[in-house]
Amino acid sequence: MTTTLTLVQGDITRQSADAIVNAANSSLLGGGGVDGAIHRRGGPEILAACRALRASHYGKGLATGQAVATTAGALDARWVIHTVGPVWSATEDRSALLASCYRESLRIADELGARTVAFPAISTGVYGWPMDDGARIALDTVRTARTAVREVRFVLFDDAAHRVFEAAMG
Ligand code: ADP
Repeated sequence: MTTTLTLVQGDITRQSADAIVNAANSSLLGGGGVDGAIHRRGGPEILAACRALRASHYGKGLATGQAVATTAGALDARWVIHTVGPVWSATEDRSALLASCYRESLRIADELGARTVAFPAISTGVYGWPMDDGARIALDTVRTARTAVREVRFVLFDDAAHRVFEAAMG
């Protein structure tokens, strides 16, 4: 089965997809950047589901590189898949953890039966990952993933990020 990769520029909270991936933090209780935008537009149902997950399974938080799904609330999607990206380090290679975010999100998407998945550029905001390296890892990981997802859409917030992903796409 082939997975189509597409790149679009825009706000991921405006996308229609089976699953929208959130670059969350380990608390699962919301934050800035794309996380804040998803909770704002998705409404309180998502936060309530995150709180319930914390209470039942993730008292110590969701580990870096892992992913978990909730309702998508008012977003035009069935699920939000929350994944925790690594903070960029100049001294330690954390790229396996960033790849894990994409792979685990697709694994959860497969479990749910999602066929279209929208990703932001995980870790490339507050977590400081260089966009070109983040794009390379994102595209390599999705290209080599074994998944039943038919469309993986990268939603890049600004024109610069979109151009970097386009260049990395080759
Ligand atoms: P992280 O903490 O994983 O770095 P951020 O949310 O700070 O997460 O940033 C991740 C990427 O998401 C950045 O490239 C940022 O520009 C982008 N971003 C921020 N808001 C949105 C949005 N509404 N839609 C899509 N991408 C977004």
